[in-house]
Amino acid sequence: MAAEIRLFPCLTDNFGYLVHDPASRAVASIDAPEAAPIIKALEREGWTLTDILVTHHHGDHVGGIAELKQKYNCRVVAPHDKTAKIPLVDVRVKQGDIVKVGTLLARVLETPGHTLDHISYVFDDEKALFAADTLFSIGCGRVFEGAYPMMWDSLLKLRALPDDFRLYCGHEYTAANVKFALTIEPNNPDLKARAEEVTRLRAAGKPTIPTLLGDEKKANVFLRADEPSVAASVHLKGASAAEVFGELRERKNKS
Ligand code: ZN
Ligand code: FE
Repeated sequence: MAAEIRLFPCLTDNFGYLVHDPASRAVASIDAPEAAPIIKALEREGWTLTDILVTHHHGDHVGGIAELKQKYNCRVVAPHDKTAKIPLVDVRVKQGDIVKVGTLLARVLETPGHTLDHISYVFDDEKALFAADTLFSIGCGRVFEGAYPMMWDSLLKLRALPDDFRLYCGHEYTAANVKFALTIEPNNPDLKARAEEVTRLRAAGKPTIPTLLGDEKKANVFLRADEPSVAASVHLKGASAAEVFGELRERKNKS
């Protein structure tokens, strides 16, 4: 039986995600920005939380763990890096580990750069990627703890996933990302199409997530740092992709 995925807003612009396995009734929350909306979503569905899959240590991803753990006694799965402060961790996972959510399988990809501990979860059978603050739709996370080449490598890991996988990211930042991306690639037809779609979705009060990874590869400028046309547009013809990526990220920081 296929998994059911629910998304809902948390905090100011975070996404909450629940992944339900009908076969076992297991339910995972991807991160825990805050407890109340997660509990509300669970109660609406009549589901009981069994697992929290944590991507990284930032407060807007772990703030709800203590309350959820107390209420459901769920298992907390977190990145291997023990220096990161994540409360009440039961299991530590690293690159290539498989996390079971009932009968569902999530594969762990280490995607450092935004933070050093950042991991992403790939549900291959469900064609679903939970990339939190590494990859956004038409954007990527700020590089707080890592370096640009490290973040670029992480993005390449995610870009290697199949086009028909869906991206579920940590924040609703798509409209601002589109605005920036258009300053770099004003004539990219896939970006222009996404811009129109995002305007329509936001006007209707709908989330811009999930999005297909294949569409992101064509429209997300941060996944396109190795395109000669993108290098040329930031006056870095012939530079390495990591350098071009760094320049894009610097420009976005200032935008
Ligand atoms: Zn973060
Ligand atoms: Fe975040």
